Parts: sequence; structure tokens; C-alpha cells
Amino acid sequence: MIELPEAITIGKQVQDTLVNLTITEVLGPTHLHKFTFFNSDPNLFRDLLVGKQIKSAEGKGIFVDIRLSDNTFLSIFDGINMKYAGPNTEIPDKYQLLITFDNDTFISFTTRMYGGIYVFKDSFDNKYRTQSLESISPLCEEFNQAYFEELISKEKKDISAKALLASEQRIPGVGNGVLQDILFNAGIHPKRKIFSLSDREKSNLFQALKNTLQAMTDGGGRDTESDFFGNKGKYKTILSKNTYGMSCPHCNDKIHKDAYMGGSVYFCPTCQKL
Ligand SMILES: [Zn+2]
Repeated sequence: MIELPEAITIGKQVQDTLVNLTITEVLGPTHLHKFTFFNSDPNLFRDLLVGKQIKSAEGKGIFVDIRLSDNTFLSIFDGINMKYAGPNTEIPDKYQLLITFDNDTFISFTTRMYGGIYVFKDSFDNKYRTQSLESISPLCEEFNQAYFEELISKEKKDISAKALLASEQRIPGVGNGVLQDILFNAGIHPKRKIFSLSDREKSNLFQALKNTLQAMTDGGGRDTESDFFGNKGKYKTILSKNTYGMSCPHCNDKIHKDAYMGGSVYFCPTCQKL
């Protein structure tokens, strides 16, 4: 899943690789994938994209946004895997979208679990995209302790730490992936109610949010996710499917997993007491 560290990483990679290239062909889905969300018929994307030149790309929140000539946009989010292929690479058998460029390279799009591909001219009204693009990023200076505390104070007191971090896109780009290590580094169990957090714990959570996201971004994303070139990120996750059942790096207790709020949460029962 694309979360903030992956969005930023992929945005930069696209910017460095595709800018100034012109789209020569666009191929629609080879098969129906129920949980790939398009903003319109993907077979019509060709009309909007062929002949357009890539101008810039940026990752924000859970979106990677590519701007093309003629104020046209290509925007992907969540489980879309957008992968670059160099010259002389064979076209894959399966994809949800494939775009070729005037230097004999192409990008292919596949979906892991669920995700979306939007192609549009000028603007497209979508709540999550607007939130991703316009909210204050947790990595910028404006997102400080006071901002974070106000964000907490606006929420119902009985929501959990996981709900605070990962639902409603309150914090753009933070989802069920990155929250695991953020909560581990803060020493807070994902099911802890936010009213039970002490001032010290809120401050720890704020620091862990900033520092963990920065480390993940500096590492080019998490080791559970692939980047634009198909490589895993270099940030080694502490809590993820990769480490489930292994020992906690702090206390040697076993890393646990629970189904909670529509996704797995991983935690150390000793370092993150409920
Ligand atoms: Zn532990």
C-alpha cells in the first residue's frame, strides 16, 4: 500500500525518470480487477493521455500525482503498483493500465488488494485526494506538537490510537502500514483509548510519528513495499508481516498480531501494554 514514505519516494523517482517524456500509447486493463477504482472508463484514458508530455510528479499523503501537459493529471493511490520498465522489456501479460513513452520505455500498473487510478483534465473532485494534497504533512514544520495536540483534542475521547492515526486520513499518508512502527516507537498499544494517554505519552506519540515517518522516507519506503523500479524499500520494518512471530528488538517477547478495525495490528505485548 502506498503510504506517505512510499508516495514521496515514488513521486521523486517518477520526477527523475519520466519528466519530458511523451506518451505514445495507452493500453486498458487486460482483465477485470474488482478492487481497482477508475474515475472513468480506463479504455478512454488513451484519448486523454496520448501525445501528452510528463511535466512533474509528486507524492503527497497516499497519492502519487503526475502532472502532464494540457493540465492533465494521472493520479494513483493505495494498492496500485506502478512499475517502470526500461527499453527492450517485454510487455507483461497482466496489468490494469500500461503506458508507453517515446523512448521505448513503459510503465505498468497492477493492483495489490485495492487501489485507484484517476486520469483527468483540470480537476477531479475526490475527498481523499484533496485531503492528501491540501492537508499539512506530518513531515513539515507546521505539523508541530501544538498542531498534533489540537488534532487529538478535536476527536472523540474513546477512539483508539489506531483510529486516531489511520482512519479518516486525519494525518495524510498515515495508514495501517506505517502506524505499526509509529506506535511501537511510542510504546503505545494500537487499542489504547486516546483519553487514557498521559501528556508524556502524547508527546512520545508525536515524536514517534515524526521520527518514524522521516526514517521510512529516508529509507526510500518500507521493506514490505515496492518502489517505482520494483525494489523493496530500505527501511526495515520492526512490526509487519515480515517480523510477525519474531522477537521484539527491545525485550525479546514475541511480536503479536490481532485483527482490529479492518486490518491486522502488530504489537509487542510487553513494550506496548494495553
Ligand atoms: Zn518488546
